Amino acid sequence: IFGPERKNSRGVNLNIRSQYQPLMDAMAQHMDKRYEARPLLAFDVATDPAMVHEVTSPYDRRQAVGTVLWTSKAQAEKALDAAWAAFPRWDDTPVAERAAILRRFGDLMEEHMAELMTLCSREGGKLLTDGVDEIKEAVDFCRYYAMRAEELFAEPTRLPGPTGESNDLMMGGKGVFAAISPWNFPVAIFCGQVVATAVAGNTVLAKPAEQTSIVAHRVIELLYEAGMPRDVVQLLPGDGPTVGSVLTSDPRITGVVFTGGTDTAQIINRALAARENAPLPTLVAETGGMNAMIVDSTALPEQVVADVIQSAFQSAGQRCSALRVLYLQDDVADRVIEILEGAMAELHVGDPRELGTDVGPVIDEDARQGLQAHIDKLKGEGRLLAETRLDAAHTANGTFIAPTAFQIEGIDALEREQFGPILHIVRYKASEIDKVIEAINGRGYGLTFGVHSRNESFADEIAQKVRVGNVYVNRNIIGAVVGVQPFGGQGLSGTGPKAGGPHYLLRFATEKTVTVNT
Ligand code: NAD
Repeated sequence: IFGPERKNSRGVNLNIRSQYQPLMDAMAQHMDKRYEARPLLAFDVATDPAMVHEVTSPYDRRQAVGTVLWTSKAQAEKALDAAWAAFPRWDDTPVAERAAILRRFGDLMEEHMAELMTLCSREGGKLLTDGVDEIKEAVDFCRYYAMRAEELFAEPTRLPGPTGESNDLMMGGKGVFAAISPWNFPVAIFCGQVVATAVAGNTVLAKPAEQTSIVAHRVIELLYEAGMPRDVVQLLPGDGPTVGSVLTSDPRITGVVFTGGTDTAQIINRALAARENAPLPTLVAETGGMNAMIVDSTALPEQVVADVIQSAFQSAGQRCSALRVLYLQDDVADRVIEILEGAMAELHVGDPRELGTDVGPVIDEDARQGLQAHIDKLKGEGRLLAETRLDAAHTANGTFIAPTAFQIEGIDALEREQFGPILHIVRYKASEIDKVIEAINGRGYGLTFGVHSRNESFADEIAQKVRVGNVYVNRNIIGAVVGVQPFGGQGLSGTGPKAGGPHYLLRFATEKTVTVNT
């Protein structure tokens, strides 16, 4: 699985001028382009002006990125007819052919990295460093799942049995999958869902987030260029509940792979369950988190702060893996908070396309208002510990939120995931550690978790006790790498399958045992 021949994409090192400058020059060519995204279906769709939506940049709402034509309910239903009809043919296509399309697609995304990064910034507000990581991850998903599909699907597995009998285990696709994705990894998660389901032999209806449909459209154009048949993967940009209602209520949908909020996953789960005379569905849901980090008195405060800054504020805290609740043991709390305050004062919030920017905008005005309301509430309670200053010269025309840190009593004080650059800090006494773990586990989420300690047995014990998908010891808690840190949570954070892990494709496959009396 982790053989020496498999290598992750190298991307671009922005600290090396000879790599950075050509990338900037290439990105400049796509900065002012106006894009027109539309549904990419097995049939042509006419433009209905009432369904055309304008897209502007989160860092400056006066700048237009282009338009998106949303998919109607009737078009979604017709797309489903096409996906249903295409399934048997695609499932019979040799896996080597399917994998070859993924590899070509990965190569094409690498070639078009500058344009895809530009769109990640212009449409999604991504920093350059985040953009590089985003495209690298998408490319890695293609190559990793291509490799795993060939290992799992190419030949039946002969199983041991009694003499006079052969037993073979064969893998195939399940049917039609809906792939519903969020805006915060508009290329990586979007691609990961599409290529994993398709390479396993399923046909796919891909629904990108409303906020990032233009980059999704460009990605699917590249997928077609790589040879993916148009009826095997179709793109359905549009309103979540409208397109979603077709994708979750029709009995021909075999499964849904979803990444997004926990509430949305629950709506989808209920819709799938309410279908009558429908096959029992597969639901792979990767959802929100209320991720914690525990820092004991042996930890190194400077290292803790560097990792906390990255974990809580990189990507403006808009990562499902981001740190939300930092537990500091009393003995180190003052020192850590003092260094944190200094580090937060140094953060530069502004245009994500500039290399000196540390924190870009949040995705849209709804997100900004929700986060600001939470900040105002905690400030009103006198809980503010530290904050970054916003400079109007860099932020006046976009949707920005200043990185902020508050003291709270415990994880239970948080009603919901705050998807932005807001850190909550809890002080605890060494004698309370069991209660801390109980509270973290009791909250019900289980995505990422960190522990900072130079006491190895303490770190090991905590890592064993927390019920989460990904534990990080003495480092930041974000940025899982494909094939290295399979990613996904449990409980309110998801159904468990690990994206970028060796078993992920099995969730999208049927297994058939054939026994022959020889
Ligand atoms: P969201 O739940 O609002 O939307 C996700 C997708 O669901 C979008 O494409 C949306 O259009 C669609 N949708 C909305 N209503 C629907 C419905 N009724 N039926 C079907 N589809 C519907 O989430 P978001 O705001 O785009 O993303 C942020 C959330 O995603 C955060 O909670 C974050 O933690 C989570 N997330 C989780 C992971 C993970 O791997 N666990 C990764 C990234 C983001």
